[in-house]
Amino acid sequence: MILVITPKTNIHTGGIDGEARFNMTGLIGSIRWWMEALVRGMGGYACSPTSENRCELDNQKFQQLLDTLGYHQAIGRMRKDICPVCQFFGCGGLSSAFKWSLDDRSLEVLEVDRGATIALMPLRPISPELYWLFANTLKIITQYGSIGGRNPAKKSSDGIAEIEIVDFQNSCSFSDVKNWLKSVGSNKRNNQNHPDLRNFWFIDDHFTKKQINDFLLLDSKGNPYNCKNYKLYEFLRGRLGVSKKIFSFQYKDYDAKIMKRTWGYVCDKDDFNKLNFGQYTNRVLRYNELNNMIERRQKK
Ligand SMILES: [Zn+2]
Repeated sequence: MILVITPKTNIHTGGIDGEARFNMTGLIGSIRWWMEALVRGMGGYACSPTSENRCELDNQKFQQLLDTLGYHQAIGRMRKDICPVCQFFGCGGLSSAFKWSLDDRSLEVLEVDRGATIALMPLRPISPELYWLFANTLKIITQYGSIGGRNPAKKSSDGIAEIEIVDFQNSCSFSDVKNWLKSVGSNKRNNQNHPDLRNFWFIDDHFTKKQINDFLLLDSKGNPYNCKNYKLYEFLRGRLGVSKKIFSFQYKDYDAKIMKRTWGYVCDKDDFNKLNFGQYTNRVLRYNELNNMIERRQKK
């Protein structure tokens, strides 16, 4: 599988010194984070690799299954224990399903508007549903999201990139994948504090610093106003070393057209209704619309 990544702004996936650096591990981590949110948004289970409850392959059990059932059936049985995201990106005891390599290994900074190719060498067979999830994760990042968003050292305008799979074909539909997810990692429940795409918002405009402060209930010096949903706003504002939960971008496309996007998320679904989008109230795009778009594109 070949990916083409075309940065539209600097992308910052590595280093904490403020330099816009590209780092494959950081890129993979960012894609993984979005895929977790998509899987949870579709009702599936996804662990967080930093949580205590992260997946781990029971190697002894796997070896026994492998010896008696062969690879495909063994992996099929293990699916109950390993979340789909770990099946793709790996976890303790299970390597990533792909080896990722950039065409030019010396590349530390990807150039804006210049595509670079990334080869993903499969290391084991994976199911079409996982390919579907991966492809749609990339679509969401390309059209609505950003990468390296949680890196506190990145400039707020960094992080927009188009990532496309070359010649990608897949016959799964949204509902096929939703059904398939029910049989994967099903003995575990999602942690309520982990991002779920159903609690994200997307707006096709750029927020000025003042608009971001207003949204976060901060004055012009960054001091918080008193408010009753204190915990929610503490979460949204972030703190030293922990990113805000609102990300806003303005950049030029190939034809010098100004592109704008803003996105953010809360973890608790009830918190969503407490947010004040002001003039954007009717322009907020949410998961349902996103999911309709994925469906429509599939039917084309
Ligand atoms: Zn997992």
